Amino acid sequence: MKWYKKLHWKILLGLILGLLWGLFASFIGLTEFTGSYIRPLGTIFIDLLRLIAVPLVLCSLVVGVASLNDMTRLSKMGGKTVGIYLVTTFLAVTIGLTIVNVMQPGATLPDETRAALIESYGERADASGAAADQLAERNILEFFADMVPQNFFQAASNNSNMLQIVFVAILLGVGLVNIPAQKGEPVILFFDSLNDVIIKIVDLIMKTAPYGVFALMAAVIVDLAGDNLGQALLLLRALAWYGLAVVIGLLLHVLIVYSSLFKLFSKMKLRDFFKAIQPAILLGFSTSSSLATLPVTMERVEKNLGVSDEVSSFVLPVGATINMDGTSLYQAVAAVFIAQALGMDLTIAQQLTIVLTATAASIGAAGVPGAGIIMLVIVLQSVNVPVEGIALILGIDRILDMVRTAVNVTGDAAVCVAVAYSEGKLGALHFDDESENV
Ligand code: ASP
Repeated sequence: MKWYKKLHWKILLGLILGLLWGLFASFIGLTEFTGSYIRPLGTIFIDLLRLIAVPLVLCSLVVGVASLNDMTRLSKMGGKTVGIYLVTTFLAVTIGLTIVNVMQPGATLPDETRAALIESYGERADASGAAADQLAERNILEFFADMVPQNFFQAASNNSNMLQIVFVAILLGVGLVNIPAQKGEPVILFFDSLNDVIIKIVDLIMKTAPYGVFALMAAVIVDLAGDNLGQALLLLRALAWYGLAVVIGLLLHVLIVYSSLFKLFSKMKLRDFFKAIQPAILLGFSTSSSLATLPVTMERVEKNLGVSDEVSSFVLPVGATINMDGTSLYQAVAAVFIAQALGMDLTIAQQLTIVLTATAASIGAAGVPGAGIIMLVIVLQSVNVPVEGIALILGIDRILDMVRTAVNVTGDAAVCVAVAYSEGKLGALHFDDESENV
């Protein structure tokens, strides 16, 4: 197959054309047209992926847990997975804090820009604050209590209840492990077949990805720029330093943490890893949702990275729900940036608090667009930085959401490789043309 016919290049082309169209539309005043006639295509694409999320997490986790077929293996792999997830998240926050303290992006913000931003985003910041207030009132036990749904269908009716679906799926899997194999088999087969059907549907949806990604990008740029490109560019320039700190931190995290993880737990080269999961990263980038990207991450990890589905169907759905390295790193940079911009100095104790709360907040954040900024409020409150400061960064959050989601997806896949290797379930890499079509 010619290189330009491969889907990941087409997605990249869609992304770039969407970006160019967004800028062009803002420039000649076609924002309304873009909003009414292009944005819906992106909405359809991302909704199709969301539609798949609950059934996919349910089926793959049930099959994943049931295939571990004894409780000792289950708890061993579960412990290992959650342990590595926690360590990588903790390292991400630490890298974020280091970068933001070295680069001091908050000190570069001009006074007028600061005032203008607070004024134009005040309302949205208030809304994030209200949502987070509700979350912050819960203590840790209440957090666990929320994981247990009263009713399965209610849990499945809202994608932000994904932790509840994870709970139900694990419970179902554990039940299946504990009944005679003969009895459990039809149920496991059912979920297994359904899982295959879902993956097939994802294949079909992905064929439309270049168009969906084009529309999503165009809509993001138009939202950001409105009809006033000059103002948008000014704001972007003022916040570029902060954005750069987040992006540098994310790059360092990927290069240092994931390559060390590969050195420790597999002999895989970072380059090969990226080559294999590139479409998942691009999709994470353009949808800003690790949950929506999950089907593609699973496919790439299994087909191209050689991870056995026994491991991936457990590690990845859990990761898409609780493991967000990119989000936690971003929260650390954002919290300190806001404090710096408002002229506040954070003590070492406060920065340590950020390490803990950003780790917890990223676990609690759903894998959907914008979840990170809602949880950021909790981080800010924990160190007494005014929540209104979020207004400063809302303007470029959409773009940073894309980058951090790409890292979240990368992190899930990297840990999946590590767990597979340590369980002796990592096969050979595979780069044939056939599997490059996703
Ligand atoms: N959009 C991110 C994700 O889906 C979460 C966030 O907002 O940071 O992984």
